[in-house]
Amino acid sequence: MTNQTMAPPEIRAVLLDIEGTTTPIDFVYRTLFPHARENVEPFLVAHHNEPEVADILAILSSEQDEDVAAGNNPPPWEMYNREEEVKSAAKYVQWLMDQDRKSTGLKALQGMIWKDGYESGTLKGVVYPDVVEALKQWRERDIWIWIFSSGSILAQKLLFRYCENGDLTKLLDGHFDTTTGPKLKATSYTSIAEKIGIAPNEILFISDVVEELDAADKAGMKTLLSIRPGNKPQPEHSYPTISNFKDIL
Ligand SMILES: [Mg+2]
Repeated sequence: MTNQTMAPPEIRAVLLDIEGTTTPIDFVYRTLFPHARENVEPFLVAHHNEPEVADILAILSSEQDEDVAAGNNPPPWEMYNREEEVKSAAKYVQWLMDQDRKSTGLKALQGMIWKDGYESGTLKGVVYPDVVEALKQWRERDIWIWIFSSGSILAQKLLFRYCENGDLTKLLDGHFDTTTGPKLKATSYTSIAEKIGIAPNEILFISDVVEELDAADKAGMKTLLSIRPGNKPQPEHSYPTISNFKDIL
């Protein structure tokens, strides 16, 4: 017999944040963003004629026009020929990344570059091994597992599908992103509980950000603060903390 503390029996679903909770915060900044930056030009050169990519290029071109008009001094958008245009688009995209711009075109393009990277095996998702173990055990105990992250649902699925530890998507019941609502708003957690179809107090939300726990707590969810190396220091709080998922099994 092991001496495990079982998750409280009233918990029927676990809702997990990604960055700083299932996955090192560094994964985004040290792996995903540099991958997109390095691959934007070769990706555009290889795929610029595909309709989806051509659409994104058109969005980026009009965003660049707006930047010029606003006096932001973006890199020029060359129009002499398609090859020059594609290369200049790549420079503009890198400029957007430098400013951490929330651009529709940029976000869509990054998603496509990551998908390409995951599918070709150059990119692998990272999930803490103790989290993988917890996912398996929750699954066996019929506890539902949902993800709530500000990354798009596509990006979330790719991370878990092409993971170092194998395909983890079969362990998950589903995903929420900010199309459900912002992570700092209680109403987002209320909607999530409604969509899952159980009471908020039967859901355990785990995140590395106290303000997110505040919002989930306000909506009536149970909460735990994830402590991992590299996570941002958090303000004073009274939430229980966890630094390894084996402690909640
Ligand atoms: Mg987080």
